[in-house]
Amino acid sequence: MIRFALRCDEGHGFESWFRDNAAFADQASAGLVTCPHCGSARVEKSIMAPHVARSDKDRPALPALPAAAPAGGDGVAMTMLDPADMALRALLRQFRRHVEAHADNVGSRFAEEAVLMHHGEIEQRPIYGSASVEDARMLIEEGIDVMPLPLAPDDRN
Ligand SMILES: [Zn+2]
Repeated sequence: MIRFALRCDEGHGFESWFRDNAAFADQASAGLVTCPHCGSARVEKSIMAPHVARSDKDRPALPALPAAAPAGGDGVAMTMLDPADMALRALLRQFRRHVEAHADNVGSRFAEEAVLMHHGEIEQRPIYGSASVEDARMLIEEGIDVMPLPLAPDDRN
């Protein structure tokens, strides 16, 4: 099944499912595809919705891996700061300092420790450290509650 985004000659947008492109063409030319808003049978595809049922593409996308993945190479999410963001940046720095003050720095063993804790093989405790982008993705796929630690630009100084 393919979901098409359609538009009638009155400009109404709607979506409908078809077995394939040919099925849509057949039904549309037979006047069987009608606009749910005005009933017009003159409809055309606008853009194909990027959604194909029952395939691998149906799996939810991984959350984007945001900033401060320390492993370079794949790049990090960036944003320009405007003055309104400064207070938030201060909060992020505060959050980072809180983590650093209350959690164990396990450095590059972060992913390993997080997995062991998740499986109950070692005792839960707050930790932070560094993980490669691949490890971070693995942790998220495992359903482990991790997030990148925000890094304020001036923290590097
Ligand atoms: Zn219409």
